[in-house]
Amino acid sequence: MGAPKIHPRDFRPTPGERVHLRRWPTHTKRLYKGEKDYRHLLVKDVDELSDLQQILYASGTYSLLLIFQAMDAAGKDGAISHVMSGVNPEGCDVHSFKPPSAEERAHDFLWRTTVRLPGRGRIGIFNRSYYEEVLVVRVHPEILQGQGLPAEELAGPGLWAGRYRSIVEFEKHLHRNGTRVVKFFLHLSREEQRRRFLERIDEADKNWKFSQDDMKERAFWNDYMQAYEKCLTETATKGSPWYIVPADDKLNARLIVSRIVIQTLKGLGLAYPVVTRARKRELRAIGRQLAHQRR
Ligand code: ATP
Ligand code: MG
Repeated sequence: MGAPKIHPRDFRPTPGERVHLRRWPTHTKRLYKGEKDYRHLLVKDVDELSDLQQILYASGTYSLLLIFQAMDAAGKDGAISHVMSGVNPEGCDVHSFKPPSAEERAHDFLWRTTVRLPGRGRIGIFNRSYYEEVLVVRVHPEILQGQGLPAEELAGPGLWAGRYRSIVEFEKHLHRNGTRVVKFFLHLSREEQRRRFLERIDEADKNWKFSQDDMKERAFWNDYMQAYEKCLTETATKGSPWYIVPADDKLNARLIVSRIVIQTLKGLGLAYPVVTRARKRELRAIGRQLAHQRR
């Protein structure tokens, strides 16, 4: 049976409109009936994604950058590994961004991610990204002190507005050059995060996933929500949309993400490069040569 359709626009804040996260659900209608149905639907999506990725690669013009941002335990890792599980690893790279190193801090805040951007024909995935610079850094502005910024920038009133602008313009630049940027905010409720943290403590094989830092950041929940709201409001554009994905149900979130990625790729109107008549003749000639070669 066909999977229920989703409309990506339902998850997309309108550029220029203020985002109020309280009005965006953390759970939504389930796209699957049970675990078995979920697996079946995901396999179908993954197959389709794999075909589309091959065409993206063959046509060699566009690249796709998928950015994942979320609170801890929202399911970024699972969404990335499950949705991309069938894509040829040669056409896809995943990068996780942790607090920047000394070398990274010695450059502007877009530097370290720029060198990891996907080349034409490829899909790049950022597990966290330059958006951390207006999220965790905005929640903990003391981090700015260690960034070596010019004093007038640091003291000036326009620091955050300047960062949003840098990001928006950078993404427009990427768009003009063939990189399609799609951003996912996995929207988790505070209660569901509590439940998942407890699970990480209770289940031995999940212990490694839990750290004291997660607890520390949870205490800043409201500040994070405010930082996300500002960030989504300022950086959602037509060319590089944000999607606010209800994430209280992990499996559903993965299906929503896979559908959005599929629809984004389909929207590029990709096709395998056209084989000219001359090229067909050439291929036939090579085929004849091969057929006559001794084994
Ligand atoms: P998980 O916890 O699921 O393994 P994670 O993405 O939370 O995945 P961690 O190693 O726990 O990985 O955390 C990475 C940390 O790095 C996050 O707290 C994030 O805020 C921080 N970080 C990433 N980029 C920056 C940045 N530019 N400046 C400061 N901190 C950053
Ligand atoms: Mg973490």
